[in-house]
Amino acid sequence: TELVLAMDGPAGSGKSSVSKAAARRLGWAYLDTGAAYRALGWYVVQRGVDPTDAAAVIDSLPDFDYRVGTDPDGYHVFVGEHDVTTAIREPEVTAVVSAIARVPEVRTFLTGLFRDIVRHSEKPGIVVEGRDITTVVCPDAPVRILLTADEAVRMARRAAELTEHSAAHVGEALRRRDAADARVVDFMNAAEGVTTLDSTDLDFDQTVDAVLAVVQN
Ligand code: C5P
Repeated sequence: TELVLAMDGPAGSGKSSVSKAAARRLGWAYLDTGAAYRALGWYVVQRGVDPTDAAAVIDSLPDFDYRVGTDPDGYHVFVGEHDVTTAIREPEVTAVVSAIARVPEVRTFLTGLFRDIVRHSEKPGIVVEGRDITTVVCPDAPVRILLTADEAVRMARRAAELTEHSAAHVGEALRRRDAADARVVDFMNAAEGVTTLDSTDLDFDQTVDAVLAVVQN
């Protein structure tokens, strides 16, 4: 695949739903790299491995059987035979994912997997989203976007998606996760050549339009 749209941004920036919608409108494939980090978090917890034990996490990698489609419609994530699409969004998984994501061997392993998926995609292009796509996974992508939004707006959007947790709890968890993740990869500042798109004052459709305008330029 030659046409790659690389998109990074913090939690709650809307990058998953925006990049999925952009892929759909372009007729491209879609890859959510955060889902792979989450699936590994789920797998490690399933195995009874302490997610803060880097050596044990690394030992789990060879048996981590990650399968994901790249169709933006009906996106499903599997680990072996388990459909973990819903499970990887649970707070128990979200709570451990930053710890495994800071292990360099984990990042190298998953980055290799992502590049294989990009290489083998049969659509005319692919939208790849995460934290280090514009800088590490696909630094040569012809289109690279950093999607941002003011923190208050990101938290309000994320809280609106959930029902069982208070907005304050969500806000605190989100802030903590961004702070932990930002120590590993800088996704708050655009690298050279990366277009920053601030969605603070845009609604969902306007944000997708703005992304497509960058692609079509
Ligand atoms: O995007 P999402 O919030 O689902 O990502 C879950 C976690 O996966 C992040 O909090 C981060 O720890 C990790 N991640 C990462 N690099 C990426 C994508 C996600 O470290 N490219």
